[in-house]
Amino acid sequence: MPEGDSVYQLARRLHPLVGLSVSHTSLRVPQLATVSLNGRVLRALWPYGKNLYMQFDEQILHTHLKMEGTWALHPVGTRWRAPGFSARVVLHFDAHPTPLELVGHDLGLVRLMSATDYPAHISQFGPDVLSPTFDHEAAARRLRRRPERAIGAALLDQSMLAGVGNEYRAEICFLAGVHPGVPTGEVDVDTILDITRRVMWANRLSPVRVTTGVRRAGETTYVFGRGGKPCRRCRTPIVKDTLGGVDRGGEVGELERFIWWCPTCQPTPPQWRWDSRLSEASRWN
Ligand SMILES: [Zn+2]
Repeated sequence: MPEGDSVYQLARRLHPLVGLSVSHTSLRVPQLATVSLNGRVLRALWPYGKNLYMQFDEQILHTHLKMEGTWALHPVGTRWRAPGFSARVVLHFDAHPTPLELVGHDLGLVRLMSATDYPAHISQFGPDVLSPTFDHEAAARRLRRRPERAIGAALLDQSMLAGVGNEYRAEICFLAGVHPGVPTGEVDVDTILDITRRVMWANRLSPVRVTTGVRRAGETTYVFGRGGKPCRRCRTPIVKDTLGGVDRGGEVGELERFIWWCPTCQPTPPQWRWDSRLSEASRWN
């Protein structure tokens, strides 16, 4: 699943395109279908959280991979590995000796903004975990503004800090020994942020995401994707569930995503048990 580290690596991979000019444009989303970037130069390309930005002179192309998105970069004329109908962005660049084709498949978001609108746009996000100058204090302030919010939900909220996705939030809560349903006001926010930065920074260049320190297939995570399997520390079966009923703000779609935890290493807070029963009842009545 694409998280901040995936986009960080993607930006590194695409960085050689900076300085090249566009020779062909096809933006396959309705509101941009007639836009042409031909003749414009890619001035800069950078990640912010799970977002990727490409600046073509005074315009910025903002894309998000969401769940399924991928980018392919190859010489023009290369056979695509993903179906043509899934392409959302097709750009050709004047590279020598061979022109290059950049194709974004299944992107969850494609939009164009003026470079002058970027500061206002970016202010909606919390600090980028993978920025070389990650602002720990600013992220802590944002998290503490919503003390009632479940930490497992807050970590996914890109307005708190940018870059954490479903896999990291589960692993971070396990590494902190905190049940994801515990309110943010009751957790050590500094420790949570230290762990977040440490594990994501350690993985920023790694082709395989590893939080356990073990790179072998099937052993890279403590709890993520391990429902029913024994906890690596205490052998208690890992629980897979949603945080439904705990958090009453934010995006429902995000909150309904599964999260994993060890009921022994991450004790269930009493309030969560009550809320969980409540939401279970409302689901069936
Ligand atoms: Zn355990």
